[in-house]
Amino acid sequence: MTTLNPRTALGLCLVAAIMLEPMTADAAPDVIKTLIVDGQNNHAWADTTRILVELMEQSGRFDVDVSTSPPAGADMSVYKPLFKDYALVVVNNGNNADPWPRETEKAFEQFVAEGGGVVSYHAADNAYRDWPAYNEMIAIGGWGGRKVSSGPYLYMEKDGKVIRDPSDGKTGGHGKQVPFEITVRDTEHPITRGLPRTFMHGPDELYAFLRGPAKNVEILATAHSPLDNKGSGHEEPILLTVTYGKGRIFHTVLGHGAKQIRKDSFVTTFLRGAEWAATGKVSIPVPAGFPKGD
Ligand code: ZN
Repeated sequence: MTTLNPRTALGLCLVAAIMLEPMTADAAPDVIKTLIVDGQNNHAWADTTRILVELMEQSGRFDVDVSTSPPAGADMSVYKPLFKDYALVVVNNGNNADPWPRETEKAFEQFVAEGGGVVSYHAADNAYRDWPAYNEMIAIGGWGGRKVSSGPYLYMEKDGKVIRDPSDGKTGGHGKQVPFEITVRDTEHPITRGLPRTFMHGPDELYAFLRGPAKNVEILATAHSPLDNKGSGHEEPILLTVTYGKGRIFHTVLGHGAKQIRKDSFVTTFLRGAEWAATGKVSIPVPAGFPKGD
């Protein structure tokens, strides 16, 4: 049996602590302080927020608070979430959402411009037609009174060519919920790297006819919107990234309700997109059981 004198033992402990510190920092990145904003949505927002909190916190990567606004039609002047206390804001409001007070809009614009991350989740791209900065952040949206003056339709041709189509017509649409195949259009982006080139999702709503400023946007994945299910006949954007100032926005049109957001195809793309919006990197893995193409 050997015994160390106390000074040697202390020295060894210090060396060990110094060696361990950077490794610990690499292995466990800081959790991402996240705020979900909800309260006004033509969808079951209380259910989907509860599940999103659960999914995000179970990943070990996010620490999530929720800020629920007064209900539609109530006094919104009191609604002032502290965006700057967070790295990421997930928008779970929808078509019927009342405008935020201008002071709150400005605080959100500043948060994103200075590098804050945003996730536009499903019907969040139906909200706030008359807020120009918000429409730049989501790039495209539908319903909520949007029209030709909101900006061009944005979609892809089969070969991946991006189309900005300024023609008039309806804004926002989907057919009956069916399973559909999603095609990854950028296999090198941190969010989509390692996903199968095509994968199945649904049954869920397949959004089409979305239009907006469509600036500083990249379409990461599309799905074919069939004419025989009230579709456009085009390859419609499903997962998108947008930049606004120094901020990153991840826009997913998926996830109509509780059933749809439990699917691996939603969970994995949502968590990876959220992580990217907050940090610019993705560490959340693609699980072995992730669905493949049709
Ligand atoms: Zn929906």
